[in-house]
Amino acid sequence: MTKEEENIIECNDKMCPTHGKISLRGRKFNGFVIKKFPKRVVIEFERTLYVKKYERYSARKTKLHARLPTCMFNEINLRDYIEIMECRPISKIIHFIVTKKIASEGGKKE
Ligand SMILES: [Zn+2]
Repeated sequence: MTKEEENIIECNDKMCPTHGKISLRGRKFNGFVIKKFPKRVVIEFERTLYVKKYERYSARKTKLHARLPTCMFNEINLRDYIEIMECRPISKIIHFIVTKKIASEGGKKE
């Protein structure tokens, strides 16, 4: 069995960027996993918003839903720091796919 065949058996997820046919394009975000479902995760990260009236920046939180490919299901856990990338809309709320794990629970590497 070649290595390519092994991968196909392991992951038959059509929405997997490595084994499936979906292509990634657009924006990239990093964030912490706050919810995990069988095929989806929710990540949260902070962004800064300039408030003109006070001439200061305020921290806002953004939540994004991302598709979790089958082959990464065991790798990604709650509170991990991960990277997601934009793709075509898979469903009403999912327009992103998990691409990699940056750091495990707690630790933040850059
Ligand atoms: Zn896969």
